[in-house]
Amino acid sequence: MTYDLIVIGGGPAGMMAASRAAERGARVLLLEKNKRLGIKLLTTGHGRCNLTNLIGFREMIKAFGDQGKFLFSAFSQFTPEDTITFFRNLGIETKIEENNRVFPVSDRAIDVLQALMKYLNSGKAEIIFEAEVSKIIIEKDKISNIEIADGRKFFAENYLISTGGKSYPTTGSTGDGYGWLKDVGHKIIKTHPALTPVVVDNDTARELEGISLKDVKFIFKKDDQIIDSRLGDAIFTANGLSGPAIFAASGAVARALPGIQLIIDFFPGKSFDEIDVWLRDSFLKAKNKQIKNVLIELLPERLISKILVNAKIKLETEVNQITKIDRQIICHALKEFELKISDVVGYHKAMVTTGGVDLSEIDPKTMRSKIIKNLLVAGEVLNLDGPTGGFNLQLCWSTGRLAGDNIIL
Ligand SMILES: Cc1cc2nc3c(=O)[nH]c(=O)nc-3n(C[C@H](O)[C@H](O)[C@H](O)COP(=O)(O)OP(=O)(O)OC[C@H]3O[C@@H](n4cnc5c(N)ncnc54)[C@H](O)[C@@H]3O)c2cc1C
Repeated sequence: MTYDLIVIGGGPAGMMAASRAAERGARVLLLEKNKRLGIKLLTTGHGRCNLTNLIGFREMIKAFGDQGKFLFSAFSQFTPEDTITFFRNLGIETKIEENNRVFPVSDRAIDVLQALMKYLNSGKAEIIFEAEVSKIIIEKDKISNIEIADGRKFFAENYLISTGGKSYPTTGSTGDGYGWLKDVGHKIIKTHPALTPVVVDNDTARELEGISLKDVKFIFKKDDQIIDSRLGDAIFTANGLSGPAIFAASGAVARALPGIQLIIDFFPGKSFDEIDVWLRDSFLKAKNKQIKNVLIELLPERLISKILVNAKIKLETEVNQITKIDRQIICHALKEFELKISDVVGYHKAMVTTGGVDLSEIDPKTMRSKIIKNLLVAGEVLNLDGPTGGFNLQLCWSTGRLAGDNIIL
């Protein structure tokens, strides 16, 4: 039998595309190498599934950086509001949390997955589990058929690759799509782990492990050029830094490695001079108090100890002994605390993959390949990645929907 559409990969993008095409009357076959659909989807939002974000259209596009403009059409045709309506029609009520993040009221990713499966079944899409696609056969600029690991071949008029990225490979996302797409002539922008912690190249992180930073500025530099800068929260881990601000910068850091320097400004709202004045006045008031007991008002004790040790100032020094130069060294450490970043944590912990199929070779209005006539691409396999907050799933819903709408019947 020749299907109208074969979808390779049953994650959010593939399920959306397959269901939509089936709803339009297409004969659809979805091939998934796992025993179940959407295994990664179940892990999203710590099992609660942050399914979209209501930040607003322009900001949504901006969140995807330079590549965001590619999503103009996809996000216009299937908006975050459409996502909410879509799931409501499938029985999933949603709620809005901090930073416009949208979750199911039930707080259960499994409910989102079951709703998608209901949609798939209503359109009568056929699904084959444990079907690992191993080969894509091209004849005259078109895919003629595909083969799965047990040797079975399948034929269709249209093929969609929605195999995701490489992050959390145990969920099935092992980057298979990149290889096929490269083989058929697509350019693949080098991939890296993103939305992941960073690794600090000495013992500093371990010494500070567990210390949380709030509303702090992180400036990542290479050869004195800023490669990423953002305000936000983070936490020191056993070997580096984690948390929303770090995750958001990690893709840019991964792309720029090695030789990355991180400068942390613990008081971005205060100038160097304002901090110096605060220190001077506090030291005057505190007279013969030990410096560590004065600075503890500013930052956690272990961090203060680290700053003083780095500055070669004894923790027990009485503040009336602190010189103007010492004060300036302390100000510098509070505004420009330096760390060397040796790496980002790999795909096993990264929420997404940055890099992927070059967007200039995909039609943003249809998700159709400009190189292979009957090929479409959707979801994370594209050279697109957003920050945490529901952006990456919205990318899958919108591009998957567009692909399902644009198969030629
Ligand atoms: C821990 C974690 C939490 C996250 N939380 C959120 C969140 O709350 N909100 C958000 O927006 N995003 C979140 N994300 C990101 C989001 O999960 C991904 O962006 C999204 O799952 C990508 O969907 P996809 O359909 O493109 O690919 P995937 O979800 O990766 O699905 C690809 C599918 O293709 C299958 N496949 C691969 N190769 C083959 C093959 N050769 N043959 C057949 N099938 C194959 C895989 O088994 C898999 O089922 C999170 C990610 C992680 C890891």
